[in-house]
Amino acid sequence: DSRVARIDAAIRVIPDFPKPGILFRDVTTLLLDHQAFKDSIDIFVERYKDLKIDVVAGIEARGFIFGPPVALAIGAKFVPIRKPRKLPGEVISEEYTLEYGTDCIEMHVGAIQSGERVLIVDDLIATGGTLQAAIKLIERVGAEVVECALLVGLTDLKGHLKLGGKPVFVLVEYE
Ligand code: IMP
Repeated sequence: DSRVARIDAAIRVIPDFPKPGILFRDVTTLLLDHQAFKDSIDIFVERYKDLKIDVVAGIEARGFIFGPPVALAIGAKFVPIRKPRKLPGEVISEEYTLEYGTDCIEMHVGAIQSGERVLIVDDLIATGGTLQAAIKLIERVGAEVVECALLVGLTDLKGHLKLGGKPVFVLVEYE
């Protein structure tokens, strides 16, 4: 897809953020390039528009940028998956392990119904821990995760191996 080169070029790399040794892929610069931003949404919409997706679930924070335009275009609802203590209603939570310590994501009870077909959207997959937790959360309410869609995949970290065979679609891959 010739659009991918422009998307790739629009993602900025920032060394040593948020800590030394980490090469941070910054998708906020993609948002400054109207064509590249639009192309990234268009590619997702083309892929998912006929897959009977009921729900786009976006992971805080950058899944809240890329998820909603896809949801609107494919006729799905949008559900935010958030960091702890952000959602005001009753939530279900899923803890997951990080390199040091644990983290947690939450979703409103009732936002996703049993049997619904869900597309998860975020900006990037690294170790896959966040997506693994999101998949568990969604499957706990009896819904089906159809695919996870991301702008960036970091291939060396083999995050997809954590997802129990769930398909992952990424626009650009880096080592
Ligand atoms: P994982 O759980 O290790 O796969 O990390 C993925 C999560 O961390 C996603 O929610 C990303 O937004 C965030 N993340 C990790 N590394 C980067 C990066 O280089 N750029 C942007 N986000 C990142």
